[in-house]
Amino acid sequence: MPKAKAPTFPDPDHDHAPCRTEALDKAERLCRTTGKKLTNIRRRVLETVWESHRPIGAYDILAKLNQDGGRTAPIIIYRALEFLMDNGLVHRLASLNAFIGCSHPEHDHAAGFLICKECGSTVEIESKKLNDALASSVAARGFAVDTQVVELRGLCPHCNRQRAYAQ
Ligand SMILES: [Zn+2]
Ligand SMILES: [Zn+2]
Ligand SMILES: [Zn+2]
Repeated sequence: MPKAKAPTFPDPDHDHAPCRTEALDKAERLCRTTGKKLTNIRRRVLETVWESHRPIGAYDILAKLNQDGGRTAPIIIYRALEFLMDNGLVHRLASLNAFIGCSHPEHDHAAGFLICKECGSTVEIESKKLNDALASSVAARGFAVDTQVVELRGLCPHCNRQRAYAQ
């Protein structure tokens, strides 16, 4: 398998439909190989998370799913999100209490995120070096990690450029 290229910030005007289709295809393949069920509600929640590259909160997901008069209960959304997280299809951003789709759920990874404070666009980063460095400083202190959160806030290249023009 060719090595996936490092994801960069998507152009704000990019055609997003293929990103979404690819993510859903991957999810379906992954569930097929692991024998998990991508039920209708899990699929719809995943689709909603993938509506953009911006994190979305559980209540916004609920509102979108119920916008045509649906009556899906919050607990159903939470359960679906739990399934999606357990299977690496979405990540939770602790600093925002929101969710983002994972673009490479097919392999285990500890994730870090770059979050644009201007447009909300978020990109997942994966660095073995960073993870190894953290793991060894943690081990040296005999610490047992529950959760690891690496979230960096700042400006994406597009917003950064706009800011430069504005000055
Ligand atoms: Zn996209
Ligand atoms: Zn991921
Ligand atoms: Zn931005």
